[in-house]
Amino acid sequence: MGSRFEITVVANDSVKGNEYIDTAVAEISRIEKLISSWDSASETSEINRNAGIKAVKVSAELFQLIERALGISKLTEGAFDISFASMDKIWKFDGSMTEMPSEEEIKNSVKKVGYKNIILNKENSSVFLKLEGMKIGFGAIGKGYAADKAKKLLTEKSVVGGIINASGDMNTWGLQPNGDTWKVAITNPLDKNKAFALLPLQDNAVVTSGNYEKYVTFNGVRYTHIIDPRTGYPATGIISVTVFAQKAELADALATSLFVMGKDVGIDMINQLPNIECIVIDDNGKIFKSAHIEIDTKQ
Ligand code: ADP
Ligand code: MG
Repeated sequence: MGSRFEITVVANDSVKGNEYIDTAVAEISRIEKLISSWDSASETSEINRNAGIKAVKVSAELFQLIERALGISKLTEGAFDISFASMDKIWKFDGSMTEMPSEEEIKNSVKKVGYKNIILNKENSSVFLKLEGMKIGFGAIGKGYAADKAKKLLTEKSVVGGIINASGDMNTWGLQPNGDTWKVAITNPLDKNKAFALLPLQDNAVVTSGNYEKYVTFNGVRYTHIIDPRTGYPATGIISVTVFAQKAELADALATSLFVMGKDVGIDMINQLPNIECIVIDDNGKIFKSAHIEIDTKQ
């Protein structure tokens, strides 16, 4: 998935432990094959190739993932949108961009964005992207989904505890062998090598989205890889969002959404959702939290 996964399991011996880890790795690879928009053999690529042409029949698993993604688009009033992906023709965060895209280019490419043009047909398990040139991508939800699925598979195999870390999207269950809860460190976005908070995490997921990893800079302005699907411009004002939720998938998607929604609207939404909390750091380094979270910050 273009990201690094780290898997930790509690087991009686290393043979068993490695077996569990292999199971999780296989599951993550399977999901990557299904959802990757880079892999031309994936179901996702088949949907994208047929944009504006025809509906594509997909597996129940992909269909349901898209259904949930559309649910998050509705919840966030379009801040989260898997059809942002057509914008990857103009915003590239792999170091290949040499100049700021023109307003014209941005305007044209944002025309292909809009979750309402993703048409699902439950009966046929098919997906149709209405507009030619439209594209979907799971960059903001796929890692979380894979982490949830790997965790689910291991718990079904009676693995008593572990951590799935998908490049900082953390999903934990059970306890450490000494009986302690797992603790996660939240990175200080102003200094990657320092954690600013240490939090216990029990059967819960925590995901951090930051603009300090993938971005481009033009004329001294940093443009992050999270794009406002309504304007076509990268989100501004926030440097890091951390979301706590039961599922990594939801935490992943909401962390991305908060970047686009901005801190006030974003935190307001989180406060209305049960059992979900967040920490937002704005571009002045100021920390904001949802209503029910206690953090013990240390520098
Ligand atoms: P990271 O993968 O760096 O942890 P995120 O989970 O926030 O960060 O995902 C960012 C990725 O999400 C982008 O690289 C892109 O693929 C995708 N994306 C960008 N903007 C949006 C958006 N508004 N809605 C949905 N996906 C988006
Ligand atoms: Mg995300």
